[in-house]
Amino acid sequence: MRKNNQCFRGFSLLVLTMICFAGAVSGQNGQNMRIHFVAPRAVINNFAGHSNTTGIGLPAGYDIVQITSSNAAAFLAAAPPRLQYVYQQLQPGTQLRRRVNEVQNISRDSVHVNYYLVDDRTGISHTSSGNFLGVRVNRNDGTSDSLYHVWPSGNGFTLSNGTFQGRVRLGEYQLEEDQSHRDGGVLSIQEVVLHESFHTQLIDRWTKWPGYITYGADEMHYTDEILGDQETAFNEGAGTFYGFTINGPGLTTLDDFFTNANYRYFLEGQSVCAGYPELYTVSARRSRTVGTATWWDYRWRDVPGFFLMFNENNATNFFANFWRYGASNRDTAGAFLSYAFNSMWRDTLKRYLTYACNRLAIKMETYNASPAGQADANKLSSLFPFALLDLITHFQMTATEYQEDYRRNYPNQNPRAYTEYFTRRNAIKTLIQGDIAASPIQFSQALQRLVTYCKTPANIW
Ligand SMILES: [Zn+2]
Repeated sequence: MRKNNQCFRGFSLLVLTMICFAGAVSGQNGQNMRIHFVAPRAVINNFAGHSNTTGIGLPAGYDIVQITSSNAAAFLAAAPPRLQYVYQQLQPGTQLRRRVNEVQNISRDSVHVNYYLVDDRTGISHTSSGNFLGVRVNRNDGTSDSLYHVWPSGNGFTLSNGTFQGRVRLGEYQLEEDQSHRDGGVLSIQEVVLHESFHTQLIDRWTKWPGYITYGADEMHYTDEILGDQETAFNEGAGTFYGFTINGPGLTTLDDFFTNANYRYFLEGQSVCAGYPELYTVSARRSRTVGTATWWDYRWRDVPGFFLMFNENNATNFFANFWRYGASNRDTAGAFLSYAFNSMWRDTLKRYLTYACNRLAIKMETYNASPAGQADANKLSSLFPFALLDLITHFQMTATEYQEDYRRNYPNQNPRAYTEYFTRRNAIKTLIQGDIAASPIQFSQALQRLVTYCKTPANIW
């Protein structure tokens, strides 16, 4: 999840193997979800018959109980406020639960997802934290209690029997002191639940690199950082997109980011991408010192388009704007996205934005040709995902570069849009080049021009 731009994905890379159509999510009823209460042993000892049903490694001195209908009242009596809130919002019928069901439908409910709600107000061991990530979290007032607390994380993995398990870990201290004070307030808590839930769905290795190397020397990642690969940015950005489907203020902050023509991306001096000439020869970049390290700042237009796909805000933007504008309503767009993510949930090698373009365009063409699509006066051309990614990367990639990245995913089928897009690309770029050269950047206006183009009947098939 993000932490003032900073975020950890499930850290269990180190510990484990690491980490439908038109809203048709009703077949999912969350039967594959469990919620657990993790707290100091003395608290859990009050729950008769408690046991570690999922075998997760616990912080020293902590114990666990699965929350069921028979002990839910006792849990609510014992749990601190933010854990109570998460538990209540995860119950069937809430807005959050409907969206969580949609996220779990990415794997068609194949991942058994466990939520671990940790009362970590008295701190956890840093050296014996089990399968939880202990981090020093500042209080909202900026001070520190000098203890370690559970950092939000999520991951999904294959068990030896071939079934899939997901883990979402949330601690009271971070939710109270940090998360609930972010844009959106308590909606930001719902955002992080969705973000970590998404991480349970793209199972097993989430990047081809080992460990934290994609995060750079600081082993942290930030929403405005140019990361070490596209997959990291994809996974984080998609998770945050699902969070923003509920946390509107968070989405507004993202929109603001994209109007900012000033310095707003950074690259660690010691990181995978720091070694690419395309980035280190950018004369306009500026350096600053963070601790003992050098970081480099870039404006949007300074970052070569290809490397913008290594940044999670850009992935969030792609999915969020597809959800907002990629179909005549958000449920339909959400179903298209679900189709795209479902094609990636077990295949690490497909988690790329250009592959998302392929899947989304195929789904749009299928829909547009269907009776429902024929009757839909507000449907969009399947050119839209290709144009949206081009806008996000300020139309800077060469056609060859764009097509090569697309072909590296080895799609088993190409939409008509793939061919059509590159015959129309220059004309589409002409429509928006004034918007993207402006300061502040007229990103929203450019986006609306693309939507208008894609709603024009002559451009739809
Ligand atoms: Zn994350």
